[in-house]
Amino acid sequence: MNQKIDRRNLLKSGLMAIGGMTLAPHLSMGAFSNSPFFLDPENRIYRSPMVREHFLPADFKAPKIIARLNANENPYGPPMSAQKAVADSVKFGNRYAWKEMFDLIDKIAKKEGVPADHIMMGPGSSDLLEKVAIVTFMKGGNIVSADPCYMSLVNVAESVGAKWKAVPCTADWSHDLKAMEAAIDKDTKLVYVCNPNNPTGAITSGKDLLDFCSRVSEKVPVFVDEAYIELAVGADTQSMVSLLTQKKNVIVARTFSKIMGMAGIRVGYMVALPSYIKEIEKITRGGMGISYTSIFAASASMDDKEFQGNTRKLNHEAKAYLYSNLDKLGYKYIPSFTNFVIFPIAIPGKEMMMKLMEKGVAIRTFDIQDKPWCRVSIGTMDEMKIFVSALGQLS
Ligand code: PLP
Repeated sequence: MNQKIDRRNLLKSGLMAIGGMTLAPHLSMGAFSNSPFFLDPENRIYRSPMVREHFLPADFKAPKIIARLNANENPYGPPMSAQKAVADSVKFGNRYAWKEMFDLIDKIAKKEGVPADHIMMGPGSSDLLEKVAIVTFMKGGNIVSADPCYMSLVNVAESVGAKWKAVPCTADWSHDLKAMEAAIDKDTKLVYVCNPNNPTGAITSGKDLLDFCSRVSEKVPVFVDEAYIELAVGADTQSMVSLLTQKKNVIVARTFSKIMGMAGIRVGYMVALPSYIKEIEKITRGGMGISYTSIFAASASMDDKEFQGNTRKLNHEAKAYLYSNLDKLGYKYIPSFTNFVIFPIAIPGKEMMMKLMEKGVAIRTFDIQDKPWCRVSIGTMDEMKIFVSALGQLS
């Protein structure tokens, strides 16, 4: 039987406290007091029917991290333009940033090609994923999504009483859109799609997804998480925001944490029909969690096309370097359209995680369908060299 652990017990067990920097990302997803956060009989974190995650033992002495490759962060950020904007605006931090927030909303709306009432802001897109989950599922219902997928929204939905209908990905790890549509029933209140997907890095064809969202949103809202879309170089993809101009009931989440390099500055937004945003705002407020300085950082980073282009280019180069070395070492990976790559490994996930961490290399390991996998974020070229060298020493 699975053992249920809550946030308090996690804290007591010391899992969140030791090596906090490397452990926190594992545990931040679903570590809520009432969430279905389980350890399975083999002491792995139960993520989904298909996915279990390993974590470091509580007494593990983590050395200084020299390659932080476990949280899909942008190693080049925050852009200098955003840093300057933070410094210049901090002196106004005694004020609420109402007008400034509306200016940012106007700017985002213009970029997305929608009216300003289609935008809801949050301190990171996680905030919006969670608010949508709470408001949508506080009276029950079910959510349909792929398995594996990013679990933030699903975890909170389950915490407030939703049933999760997990639909396995196809053999190439894209969303099985047909099966997802078939899984919708009278109790389905939301379909969640993460494209490109996390933790697989795989992509679902933009055209297929557009058809799916267009049709399915007539029955039930479709939430599309596009956290990594700007990094999907050379992919058959497109944002689903265009469907909002046709008044389709889709919700698109975007973040400043990836391409803009501002995970710690916390800005995200969602684009949705005004009627949908009104529903979410009946019991929550958009934008209140964003600081004065973050608003200016976000605005500056939007203008910083050079930083965005560099991130894309450097991410692509470091990923190509990783691919060629994984090839040399005989690892097969899922082609990634993100800033991380996942691949099957030959030793147990926990062992791999510990061995790399002993060398100061932080990664994540999962068992997917009971086979061990390593997920490594794309860091700087230097970090990737450290990772490849550490991996080579395992083989
Ligand atoms: N969505 C996906 C798919 C992610 O991978 C992440 C973070 O890694 C998020 C959303 C949350 O990002 P943030 O809250 O930093 O905007």
